[in-house]
Formats: sequence, C-alpha cells, structure tokens
Amino acid sequence: MKTDWLIVGAGFTGSVLAERIASQLGQKVLVVESRNHIGGNAYDYHDEHGILVHRYGPHIFHTNDEGIWSYLSRFTRWRPYYHRVLAMVDGHAVPVPFNFNSIAALFPPERARQLERLLLERFDYGSKTPILQLREAEDPALRELADFIYDKVFLGYTVKQWEMKPEELAPSVTARIPFHLSRDDRYFQDRYQGLPQEGYTRLFERLLDHPNIRLMLNTDYHDVVEEIEFERMIYTGPVDVFFDFIHGELPYRSLRFEMQHHAVEQYQSVAQMNYPNEYPWTRISEFKHLTGQSAPGTTVAVEYPQPFVRGKNDPYYPIPCEANAQLFRRYQKEIDDVAPKILFAGRLADYRYYNMDQAVGRALALFRRISEGR
Ligand SMILES: Cc1cc2nc3c(=O)[nH]c(=O)nc-3n(C[C@H](O)[C@H](O)[C@H](O)COP(=O)(O)OP(=O)(O)OC[C@H]3O[C@@H](n4cnc5c(N)ncnc54)[C@H](O)[C@@H]3O)c2cc1C
Repeated sequence: MKTDWLIVGAGFTGSVLAERIASQLGQKVLVVESRNHIGGNAYDYHDEHGILVHRYGPHIFHTNDEGIWSYLSRFTRWRPYYHRVLAMVDGHAVPVPFNFNSIAALFPPERARQLERLLLERFDYGSKTPILQLREAEDPALRELADFIYDKVFLGYTVKQWEMKPEELAPSVTARIPFHLSRDDRYFQDRYQGLPQEGYTRLFERLLDHPNIRLMLNTDYHDVVEEIEFERMIYTGPVDVFFDFIHGELPYRSLRFEMQHHAVEQYQSVAQMNYPNEYPWTRISEFKHLTGQSAPGTTVAVEYPQPFVRGKNDPYYPIPCEANAQLFRRYQKEIDDVAPKILFAGRLADYRYYNMDQAVGRALALFRRISEGR
C-alpha cells in the first residue's frame, strides 16, 4: 500500500494534521488508529440509554486562541457551556477553584468577610493565587485559610489522583489549582468555551471526511508498518513504545470510569462534583449538563484514579516531575535522529499534558513547519 503520509492516531493531533495535509497540500494521507473509533480521548457516543457520553471522561473545550477556535468552527457549531465544579467539603458542596463564594459557604459571615478583606489587601480582585503560594502569606489568618483549603480540597484529591504529595509534582500541576479572588464560579475564564453541538465524534468525522484521507480503525501501526510505503510519517502514540523502550518506560497515571445510569432527570446540580476526601473516587461527572440533552434518565461517570499498567488500561496523564522530564529528553534525541522523515506530536508522543486546544495548536504549528518545508 502506498501513501504520501502515514499518520498514527486519530485523536485531535492526528486528525487535524491529516485534514491540513490532505486539504492544503493535496497529498494522500493514511490514518491508522488502534482503537475501534476516531477522536482519541475526546470520543463520545450514545450509550444504551440514548445519552451522549464521553468514553474517556468529560471533555470541555475552552481556549483563548481565536485561530484555534475559528479553525475548529469550520467543522462544528458550538453549544455555549460554562463549566462549574463543586467539591464536597465537610458535607457542603462548595465551588472550586476555591473563591469568595466557597469561603461564604464554609465560614460564619463575620469570618468570611474578614478573610475576604485580608485577601483583597494582599492580592488583586480577579487574580488567581496558587494555594501553595497562599500558604506562605505573612498573615496568620490567610495561612490558616490556605492550610484549610490545602487539607480539605487539595491534598486528598492530589494524593488520590497522583499517589504523590503536591510538593513532589512539578509546579505546573500545583499552579493549576489556584485560589480565585472573585465570585466568578466558572471553572475556566477563557474567551471561547463550549462543546461541539453534535458531539466530538461528529466533529472528527468532518475533519477526516476528505478524498485524500484513508482511515484504518482497529489497526496498530506495528502490525501494518512493513506493508505500507510512505514518504513521511507522523506518530501521535506513546514515544517510549515507538522506540521499544530503549531508555525505559515513561510513567503515566490511568483512570477507571464507571458509567452509571440513573432513572432521574438530574443526578447532581452541576456537571462535575469533586470528592477530595471521602470515597475512593475523585469526581462524578453528569454528561447532560455538558451536552444540554433532555431525557428522562441520566448517565454519570464515576472516576477512579489508577496506576497505569501496560496492556491493562490506558496511559492518560504523563506524571510531571523532573525525573520523567529527564527521561523524556533522552527520547527527544531519538526523535531528532529520525526527523524529518518521522515527526512526533501529541500528548503521548510529546509526553506532555495538553488540553484539546493545545493539542490542536501543536498540530497546526507542526503543519506550518511542514508546509514551509522545515
Ligand atoms: C480524563 C481526561 C479528561 C480530559 N478533559 C479535557 C477537557 O475537559 N478539556 C480539554 O481541553 N482537554 C481535556 N483532556 C485532554 C484531551 O483528551 C487531549 O488534549 C487530547 O486527547 C489530545 O489529543 P491527542 O491526539 O494528542 O491524543 P489522543 O486523543 O490520545 O489520541 C492519540 C491516538 O493515537 C492512538 N494510538 C496510539 N498508539 C497507536 C498505535 N501504535 N497504532 C495506532 N494508533 C495508536 C490512540 O489510540 C489514540 O486514539 C482530558 C484528558 C483526559 C485523560
């Protein structure tokens, strides 16, 4: 079989690159995908109760990048959606990231007003301060508040999610959990937020619908690579697998999703409820809040963090710490050696957590390099 480009993986990275190369360069692309569906981890489908669910956990699209938003808008219309998350703390459901409304829900009014005043003396209204930074504040009342948030909201969730203490993780992870000096309960403040109106899978079908693109599902690249004659390849799978683990395995965290259907119209008041302390799961997500679907029943995903075991579950989150960054740098040398015939991109090939917009941005940037002959 002959093709100009072989692309491994039909997630955002592989599908955007396939669409660009096929439509802008007029070249033939063969996309191979080991799963039985397109969309990578953003894949959604209707379950046996007719509810549109996300197989690999709730996916909310958000970006500040107008270019990425308008590019994807050629393939989908959007349902405006602002994500809201509550966390169960001492029996109260409080907004996270922690903000002034969370303080008001947990502390007596006089104490809440005092904390708010102290915070505003030190930080700007609307700013976001990492909890770890707040713990170093000079004022004992603020340190106490920071310790409270750290113990009740942050520590338990982080240990469940990563099996590591926050301090052991790279600052980029802990910086993601800020105190928000605001009454804005939205989880993201990005300019563009929403979900594809007909679902992610439909968006992917449109991305890949081009006469120059051929798609093979249920096809692991290792099983077919010898039979395919290609000019160049883009690989979006795990980089350590590609190089037969010559430098060792890159560690990941995995998840188990337990889908539950309930014969009620609404299971919880928001799309995502976090459980930082009690129970072995970290969060419960109700899909109807995301999609706006109306139906008499509802489906939720209960999420259990797991160690990643090769062949048993999926690698979801690269574990961001210095030792793993060093290990990846050794693979980077291998990547440089096989370029430009073989290019690597995406969350598994770059060993980096990307939001969907970042994965699309990475793919569009790589396409610019390809089309400029670099
Ligand atoms: C639980 C969870 C929740 C998330 N929620 C959000 C969210 O709310 N908002 C957001 O912006 N982002 C979210 N993300 C991130 C989002 O999933 C990623 O940004 C996106 O999936 C990255 O796309 P990708 O193409 O790089 O990787 P993937 O989607 O993983 O696609 C890679 C594809 O390559 C295939 N593949 C791998 N190896 C081979 C092989 N040897 N042969 C053939 N095919 C192969 C895989 O099967 C996969 O389909 C979430 C991620 C997780 C895990």
